[in-house]
Amino acid sequence: MSSPSHYDVAIIGAGMSGLAAGIRLAHFGRRVCILERHSKLGGLNSFYRLDGRKFDVGLHAMTNFVPEGVRGTPLGKLLRQLRIERGEFALCPQKQSRVVFGSTGKTELRFTNDFSVLEAEIAAKFPAQIDGFRRLADLVRSYGDRVFDVPQVSARQVVREYFSDPLLEDMMFCPLMYYGSARERDMDLSQFVIMFRALFLEGFARPLEGVRLVIRVLLEKYQAAGGECRMRCGVARIVEREGRAAALVLDGGAEITADHVISSIGAAETLALCDPMVGGGLAVASAPSGMGILPMSAALGQRHGQDARATIGRRLSFVESIRVLKHQPGELGWGSDTIVFFNDSDRFDYARPAQQVDLRSGVICLPNNFDFGGAELPEGWLRVTCLADYDQWIGLPEERYRADKLRWLDESTRSARRFLPEISDATLAAETIATDLFTPRTITRFTGHLEGAVYGAPGKTPDGRTHLKNLYLCGTDQGLLGIVGAMLSGISMANQHILQPEIRGA
Ligand SMILES: Cc1cc2nc3c(=O)[nH]c(=O)nc-3n(C[C@H](O)[C@H](O)[C@H](O)COP(=O)(O)OP(=O)(O)OC[C@H]3O[C@@H](n4cnc5c(N)ncnc54)[C@H](O)[C@@H]3O)c2cc1C
Repeated sequence: MSSPSHYDVAIIGAGMSGLAAGIRLAHFGRRVCILERHSKLGGLNSFYRLDGRKFDVGLHAMTNFVPEGVRGTPLGKLLRQLRIERGEFALCPQKQSRVVFGSTGKTELRFTNDFSVLEAEIAAKFPAQIDGFRRLADLVRSYGDRVFDVPQVSARQVVREYFSDPLLEDMMFCPLMYYGSARERDMDLSQFVIMFRALFLEGFARPLEGVRLVIRVLLEKYQAAGGECRMRCGVARIVEREGRAAALVLDGGAEITADHVISSIGAAETLALCDPMVGGGLAVASAPSGMGILPMSAALGQRHGQDARATIGRRLSFVESIRVLKHQPGELGWGSDTIVFFNDSDRFDYARPAQQVDLRSGVICLPNNFDFGGAELPEGWLRVTCLADYDQWIGLPEERYRADKLRWLDESTRSARRFLPEISDATLAAETIATDLFTPRTITRFTGHLEGAVYGAPGKTPDGRTHLKNLYLCGTDQGLLGIVGAMLSGISMANQHILQPEIRGA
């Protein structure tokens, strides 16, 4: 079928996964259209302007960084499959990161992009555990790429077979969970393996210019390959006919059709588009009314059965405070840490908090502290991420919402400063030239993700299949998380469901 509004593939959402899927398909000659509701590309990994200054949303660091020449890695696969030259992302490695536990950071593990640094730290601070840790690292190295067709196994249980110190166990899980777990308190072993490789065996990097460079490269590749992108063009409904996604109804009421549809917006969010009744429930859930998600879950469960119910569950969300400073963090005495994962006791509780924000643990990112090869960011930045409870943000009246943002901006910074070299309140106040805080409500408002979820639903759909033959999922609810994971998810779903016969024959 050929008409101006018919495509080989329509992709819902122009985040990292949707863009990567689009590039891959366009390279193989498919007529592709990405439909994005927001005015900006990037989704959870985007940027915005406030008082003339550009703020990144979802980039502390790109994970999976390896030096040039290292073969067989996720980054290499991603660059090759998207035909991106390594230099185009201009990735600059981290300087050093830390995991610190205890009320004043009394136990600390330093790590860099060189795995031997972490090994040496563990040998020095947990001498009785180092052999087990090394064997665990060997398990991760030999695990292979079989991450989706394996049964779910508790990573906690497996790790306990390798070492016995609960403090070390929690210090390992803290960074891996903060950077890639949709599940509370435990991870599936395959996800643990992916994250262990991504953070510890490989490492962190970012371009000096930040998220914008990554997005620009992806858009250029996509457009150069002939891909079309429609912005401010949300999909309001998926019309089902004979077990297929027969048409997409756009927010303005127009319809487009496609042979295949890939959705990057989340599993429950996609199913809700298939069912106006469910869609109504989702709108209620996302509105600042505090009504919760029960109508949607009930309707989804009824209509789509067990699989749909698995996509529903306690989603995890975060607040992130951002502080722009006159000077580089190093000049203020904060040293050269790039990322600090902190927890103020010996046990780590990665879960949706009972209070609005959980200040006990979090992630500090000092984006100035990448090795930019002599260049530097013109201003200093301090970002602090903490777990937050969506329900206690969504229903707030506007005035209270603003007041709470200010409160948690201060409190999250105060909590994080316990784990950085001390500077006085007066110095910090004099240094601060701009601040912002985004909340679970911000995330839902700008990306449509249910309950402000950053890592999607706890249950994943590894094969990306849905109840409709030609509708597939990619992105966080397919199962690969983070920036690199999202792009790989888009690539693998495009390969698996649409390009496979061709790739096999090539
Ligand atoms: C604060 C924060 C910090 C982070 N830090 C890091 C980090 O340091 N390193 C890292 O690797 N990852 C990080 N992440 C995670 C990373 O950004 C995400 O995992 C990744 O970007 C997800 O991409 P995605 O394509 O799966 O989904 P999304 O980015 O959510 O893309 C989905 C897109 O679909 C659009 N959409 C939704 N509904 C509709 C509709 N009905 N019609 C049309 N379009 C629609 C949305 O607007 C969005 O653009 C962070 C995220 C956040 C929020």
